[in-house]
Amino acid sequence: MPGFEVFGDEERKEINDVLETGILFRYEFGDQRNNVFKVLEFEKNFANYCGAKCAQAVTSGTAALKVAMAAMGIGPGDEVITQGFTFVATWEAILDIGAIPVFTEVDETLNMDPADLKKKITDKTRCIIPVHMLGAMARIEEIVAIAAEYNIPVLEDTAQAAGGRIRGKHLGTFGDCGTFSFDSVKTMTTGEGGMIITNDEKMWQNMSEYHDHGHDHAVNPGGRGGEGRSFIGFNYRMMELQGAMGIAQLAKLDSMIRAQKAHKKKLREAASAIPGVTFRSLVDEEGDTATFFAFIMKNSEQCQAVNDILGDAGVGAINFSENSWHFYPSWEHLINGSTLTSSGYPFAEPGGKRRVIYDPDVLPQSADIMSRTLVYPVSIKMSDEQLEKMCQALQKAAAQLV
Ligand SMILES: *Cc1c(COP(=O)(O)O)cnc(C)c1O
Repeated sequence: MPGFEVFGDEERKEINDVLETGILFRYEFGDQRNNVFKVLEFEKNFANYCGAKCAQAVTSGTAALKVAMAAMGIGPGDEVITQGFTFVATWEAILDIGAIPVFTEVDETLNMDPADLKKKITDKTRCIIPVHMLGAMARIEEIVAIAAEYNIPVLEDTAQAAGGRIRGKHLGTFGDCGTFSFDSVKTMTTGEGGMIITNDEKMWQNMSEYHDHGHDHAVNPGGRGGEGRSFIGFNYRMMELQGAMGIAQLAKLDSMIRAQKAHKKKLREAASAIPGVTFRSLVDEEGDTATFFAFIMKNSEQCQAVNDILGDAGVGAINFSENSWHFYPSWEHLINGSTLTSSGYPFAEPGGKRRVIYDPDVLPQSADIMSRTLVYPVSIKMSDEQLEKMCQALQKAAAQLV
């Protein structure tokens, strides 16, 4: 990560095509747009790349989660299960559509633990959202099998793992739908932007209408103003400049991943000398996008000692148990039920009765794993010097800990 490292003539050409028409809107404008439909083209290319039937572009990865859940009919009274290690966006979207997020443990995939998922399913569960965090896959086939037993749809939050696969099958195509983010630090970026892929044409139709104020997009003599609608929607439309960026960035995605893999391999070799170290478990190493390198120590003391040495060498790693945006116990605003609404919604009902209470200590397995895990972001254009510096620091940590 991220794709901004490789902006070049390809992005410039695509953007220029749009500027020459003067049309930034994805719909309408007839002949004036000279047959340039960048968002539509990006959707087709993305669906094709992933091996999905349909794709719906939206304004962000967070919007993608909301639009996908709206299309599934999820709302107040429903529970949606996700994992306690994810970006806040996953559960913000769940709360925003009125449902209640329920959190599972992660295992050493650093993603949803299927055994804990089983324990968290209730008769209110209406959707399961495993997240493919840090560029690599959850145990998605096991999760989909469990969901099928209970007849619950699966939405894969693939915001951090575009281009990831399991035995060649793309992440985002295992469940009922998959969502992606192209924000400014994601592997492929359109500045802001998101996508939802699905093989379910009815679900896609719902997304298409919901994300554009309910417009049915059916051809009619009155044009856009004459279009019908069958339910209320909102505006999550992607614009043409983002579509243009997406076309150019998608074409580079596989080469970005290849570069990251080469860098990650070197870091892994250097880290393997740390006594007792293990690595994040990968369902299919070949399908990893290698946007991050995660290594796991025997205990939190050793983890701290290793990171002190790395920090002294100027290449400290991320410990996500200390990061306030990605791990459940540090989401104090969720735990405290902080909201701008005077009623206390979505944490409380009007009148003040709590709909849900979050206890910071309910995910001990995740807390243990996160306290022992160090993570390096891997970029596309890491210099040999930078890589060498990181590898030397890892070897130094290994030598000092023997
Ligand atoms: C980035 C991210 C999102 C949200 O995407 P935005 O485009 O920034 O709204 C959702 N889920 C995860 C796991 C993410 O990392």
